[in-house]
Amino acid sequence: MDSWKVVIVTVVAAIVAVPMAIILTSPPSDTQAASQPTDDKLLVLASFYPIEQFAMQVGGDMVEVKSILPPGAEPHHWDPTIQDVQNMAHADAVVVNGVGYEAWLVDGFMSADFDGIIIDTSEGVPLLDLAEGTGDHRDPNDDDHHDEHTLSHDPHIWLNPANAQIQVQNIADRLSALDPDNAEQYRANADAYKRELSQLDDDIETALQGCQREILTFHQAFAYLADRYDLTQYVVLKSTTPHGEVSTRSLEQAIEIANANDITTIFGEETIDPRAVDVVASEIEGGKVMQLSPLENVQDDGTYTEIMYKNLEALKAALCQ
Ligand SMILES: [Zn+2]
Repeated sequence: MDSWKVVIVTVVAAIVAVPMAIILTSPPSDTQAASQPTDDKLLVLASFYPIEQFAMQVGGDMVEVKSILPPGAEPHHWDPTIQDVQNMAHADAVVVNGVGYEAWLVDGFMSADFDGIIIDTSEGVPLLDLAEGTGDHRDPNDDDHHDEHTLSHDPHIWLNPANAQIQVQNIADRLSALDPDNAEQYRANADAYKRELSQLDDDIETALQGCQREILTFHQAFAYLADRYDLTQYVVLKSTTPHGEVSTRSLEQAIEIANANDITTIFGEETIDPRAVDVVASEIEGGKVMQLSPLENVQDDGTYTEIMYKNLEALKAALCQ
């Protein structure tokens, strides 16, 4: 066996055990939503980071937005506690990405005493089919059958700023209906933020002109970004969640793809075990690892647009030489 194959086998064995460790060490959940706001603000819960950002931009001063997921929690598969579900029941609205991404949350509400509204931001977003073999793979060591949903479409819609504009408009429309007195302000906030997103969209398009089009990422999160900017996404882990098992074959294929397409930068992401992308990069001439954030488990406090501009810088460094 080649020496690098030995390395891969060792690394694979170590990687498989990691996702549960990440889940177990996540901070205890605390939505701090147990009490109603004391003023007239609507209490709006958002499922995870980009959705929280969109809701805050639209809601402005009229709305108190809280993230349901605690910092560091992993949004693909998260189990709300009974306390979390009770806290959620006090909300006026819960904002979700949709496309089956937050099955854990919708299930929780079905049994909860919740009389607010659920705002599905994906309404009207053109959806992409899942690439073959990239279904919602469950961790084989995880025998919790809480949310065995099979996705019909790729849920990572927020990574295309054009989709983000639709999501923002959906939030504005639903909040306006819920709170007609402030409808004009919600629409004005949404319009201003959509201009910012449109600028981001233009900037990405312009910056990547004439650059290489192939990207190699960790899990299959960037299909909408790739679709928008005419990139081809290859992945190390053929899964729509970062929790699948990275097989030896997957690593070998990633190395083959990189070599065949002159890809030298492998994109890692927040909170994944870096060893899989490190191994792929180490087997490619001039290979290196950079971060491309799916904004799923944001560790710093950059805004949606700030993180997307950081992503653009990473893409330019990798593709535009
Ligand atoms: Zn994902």
